[in-house]
Amino acid sequence: MRAYTTAHLSLPLPEGHPFPLYKYGGVAEALKGLLPVLPAPEVPREALFLAHEASYLEKLFGEGLSREESLRLGLPFSQALLRRALHAAGGTLAAALDALKTGLGLNLSGGTHHAFPGRAEGYSLFNDVAVAIFWLRAKEGFSGRVLVVDLDAHQGNGTAFFFREDPSVFTLSLHGERNYPLKKEKSDLDVGLPDGTGDEAYLWALEGALEKARAFRPDLVFYNAGVDVLKGDRFGRLALSPEGVRRRDERVFRFVKALGAPLVVVMGGGYNRDPRLTVEAHAATYRLALSSLA
Ligand SMILES: [Zn+2]
Repeated sequence: MRAYTTAHLSLPLPEGHPFPLYKYGGVAEALKGLLPVLPAPEVPREALFLAHEASYLEKLFGEGLSREESLRLGLPFSQALLRRALHAAGGTLAAALDALKTGLGLNLSGGTHHAFPGRAEGYSLFNDVAVAIFWLRAKEGFSGRVLVVDLDAHQGNGTAFFFREDPSVFTLSLHGERNYPLKKEKSDLDVGLPDGTGDEAYLWALEGALEKARAFRPDLVFYNAGVDVLKGDRFGRLALSPEGVRRRDERVFRFVKALGAPLVVVMGGGYNRDPRLTVEAHAATYRLALSSLA
């Protein structure tokens, strides 16, 4: 068992930018004693071209994003940003390959679910989960059904759009209804929650959603374990306690175990006003994945 990190890749950001760069190193550090934490490999360009539009990729690798496109992304475009995104997507792909071999793959990065085939938005340059799914099918002979359980506080709009007409991928998104993105895409199952949703209401909604997803009988599961559902998050608008997030993860891992399907865990968002809460919640997800499924 091992995990992948992008913590070694620097990313210069303007002073006061809300992107939580600190958490990648923090989570890697917190897990070091438990399992090998490896630098995420760079994703093969070919994998990106399987999933994303060629014109979009050519622009990224050529002149880069315009000022307007960077605003939509929420991050200033730079070569460092591109490099980091290549490794974040590579980490998810490597974790997916691990999952097919061992049953569990862990990326301490990724979950950039707002990236569309032809555009970047919401901190998401590449849709790492989509890229991994396209690669598994094209290059690894994988032809099973895939379930994406997206429990980040924001709708997985890019992922929903990627697989909107693909009956072999079931996208499930549980998110704050009033959260970004304002214009939601249609997942196979969307559960929009009111602002301030707490543990009990959240877990109740999750239970119903997993029940519906079970009928899909997936052969592989991706879990976007964003912890921006925690109370005090700058962007999440929900109000789970750390114990509520633990119960959420436990529920997902129990569900996956009962299915007997391999699982890939990607990090997703987490922007708590208390940075320690973000790091600890992410680390707790990976620890629980290890103790439940490894
Ligand atoms: Zn989020």
